[in-house]
Amino acid sequence: MESIASYDFTGKRALVRVDFNVPLNKETFEVTDDTRIRAALPTINHILENGGSVVLCSHLGRPKEGPEDRFSLRHILPAVERLLGKPVKFAADCIGSAALHMSANLKPGEVLLLENVRFYKQETAGTESFAEQLSKHGDVYVNDAFGTAHRAHASTTVVANYFPNDKMFGFLLEAEIKSVDRVLNSTEKPLTAIVGGAKVSSKITIIERLLDKVDHLIVGGGMAYTFVKAMGGEVGNSLVEDEFLSIAKDIIAKAKAKGVDLYIPTDTIVADKFDNNASTQLVAIGSIPSGWMGLDVGPETIKACAEIIESSKLILWNGPMGVFEMSNFQTGTVEIANAIVRATAKGAFSLIGGGDSVAAINQFGLADQVSYVSTGGGAMLEYLEGIELPGIKAIRS
Ligand code: AMP
Repeated sequence: MESIASYDFTGKRALVRVDFNVPLNKETFEVTDDTRIRAALPTINHILENGGSVVLCSHLGRPKEGPEDRFSLRHILPAVERLLGKPVKFAADCIGSAALHMSANLKPGEVLLLENVRFYKQETAGTESFAEQLSKHGDVYVNDAFGTAHRAHASTTVVANYFPNDKMFGFLLEAEIKSVDRVLNSTEKPLTAIVGGAKVSSKITIIERLLDKVDHLIVGGGMAYTFVKAMGGEVGNSLVEDEFLSIAKDIIAKAKAKGVDLYIPTDTIVADKFDNNASTQLVAIGSIPSGWMGLDVGPETIKACAEIIESSKLILWNGPMGVFEMSNFQTGTVEIANAIVRATAKGAFSLIGGGDSVAAINQFGLADQVSYVSTGGGAMLEYLEGIELPGIKAIRS
C-alpha cells in the first residue's frame, strides 16, 4: 500500500475524496463551521508542495433528486480559497466532458473543486460506471474522508478499484485509523472506556467488543438507568429500554467474568421534567422517586470516575454523561472532560470519538487538550464495533 508521505506526486493529478459536508448559513450559504475543511489542509498542501495538482471531490448534505442549489459545493468555494490561500477552480458538475476538461488541464500547484457527488444517485448506489468516470479526474486517488469511510459509495470506495497501485489514505484518515488502533490494539494499561449517551441499544455492540479490551468500563448518560433497573434499582421516569434489561444483566456478568471493572454511576441529579428549568434534587441512582428522571450524574460518581480516568494510560470516550445540551445538566459531562484533560496532561493518550462527546468537548473548549478528537461520528462507531469499513478496505486491498 502506498503512503501519502512517501508517494511522488510530481506532475500527478490527485483525486482527493474529502469530507466537505460542512454546515452552511441557511440564508447566506456561508460556511458556519470550517473544521472539516481545515482538517483536509495538510493532505491538500502536501500534494501541492510536492509537485502535484488536486481535484477535490465531496458530498454536501442529502440532496434527494439531482442537483439542488442549497447543496451546491459552489457555496463553500470562498472558504476553501481563504483557507488554502490560493484561487480554486470550480467544476459545475462532478463528471462529464466540461469537468474532465478542467481536471485534464490542471497544472502542478492548482486546485479544482468538483460539484457535489451526491447530485447523482449513482454515488450512494456505488455504481461502477459512475466511479469509473470520477476516476478519470486523477492519476492517483487519495481518500481523506473518514466521516464517510463506512459507506460503500462510488467516490469513497468503488473508485479506488480504478487505481490498483496508486491509492492511499490522506493524513486525516491515517491519523484517525492510527488513533483508534492505538486504543484498541495497544498493550498500554490501564485502558478505560467511558461509554455514555442516550441508549444501550445503539452502543451494545461497542460495549461487548470493549469488554475484551478494557480494564475499566464506565457507563454513563441515559443508558446507565437501564443498568440500574436491571440491578433492581428504582429509576422513576428516567430513560430506560426495558427490552435491554436482560442484555444489561448479561453485560454485568460478562464484565465480571472477564475481570473488567464495570463502573455504573451511584448518584444522579434528577429533574421533575425534561427541561433546563425543572426542579432538581440529588439522589442515589437506585432510589429515584417516582415522577422524577435522572438527567446527569452526581458528585460521588464524578469523583469516582475522575479517579479511574486519571489513573489510566489509554482513554476512549464515547457519549455524554448527561443531558449536556442543557446547562443545568452538563456538570457530569464537563467534569469527565476535565478529568480526561488532566489525565492527558499526565501523559495518557485520550481519544474522543462519536458524535455527541465530540460536540461536548468542542462546546467546552477542551478539544486541544486531549490527544485526538475524531471527525467521523458514524464511521468511528462502526470502526469501534470492529466492522471493516469499506472505504478503508478499498485502499488496503
Ligand atoms: P448518543 O447519540 O447515543 O451518544 O446520545 C447522546 C444524547 O444522549 C445527548 O443528546 C444527551 O442529551 C442524551 N442523554 C445523555 N444523558 C441522558 C439522560 N440521562 N437522559 C436522557 N438523555 C440523555
